[in-house]
Amino acid sequence: MSNRVRELYRQDGVILHKSHFVYSRKADGTWPHSDNFVDASRLSDASIRELSKLLFERIVAQVGDDFQAVMGPARGAIPIIEEFVRLMPGLRPIIAKRNDLGFFELSPCDVEWLNTARCLDQSRVRVVAVDDVLTKGTGIVRVARFATRQLVEVLALGCLMDRSGELTASTLGTQRFVCLWSHALPTFTEEECARIGPCSKGTPFDLEHGHAKEWLALQKSMTK
Ligand SMILES: [Zn+2]
Repeated sequence: MSNRVRELYRQDGVILHKSHFVYSRKADGTWPHSDNFVDASRLSDASIRELSKLLFERIVAQVGDDFQAVMGPARGAIPIIEEFVRLMPGLRPIIAKRNDLGFFELSPCDVEWLNTARCLDQSRVRVVAVDDVLTKGTGIVRVARFATRQLVEVLALGCLMDRSGELTASTLGTQRFVCLWSHALPTFTEEECARIGPCSKGTPFDLEHGHAKEWLALQKSMTK
């Protein structure tokens, strides 16, 4: 199973190599550097469909198919949500979008649907939450917490890839975590990168992917 994700990612050139990336800042204030980066937007439509189907089957094998909606954060989750709905007609697609303050919000239409579903069922509405690639899982966890506050029961969190290789149901605070490929991409601390990583070789930063722009601006402001 994990081999199929790896194969398709390789085939579609999703994992970028031999450049210089800065990942988002960690809780301890450091910024990991890497010569690898996952650009999930490169995944072809056919690959997304195949992997989403695998994820769907894995989730159903674990929690059954007694859920009424599939939700996830824009934009990564959107094609996966579309495939889930194709596989289970009648499933409600719910896409959470960030507002200007960075908090996830549902459309008024989805909120109304949730309210109606709760009234009709006289019980909790059950959903699964999905995303494409997780690093810390912050986005999907926020969406799941948001759902829980709306009295929605989140049966499982699912993703195509965990690129930290470290995420578990308990670290994500969920009952079930279904991940097709858990694979730690090598990263360097800033100090290691300066010593043995792309920084030491003077490899130019990729400013298009990751957080190199922010990191460079920070370095500049600190040397002033
Ligand atoms: Zn570096």
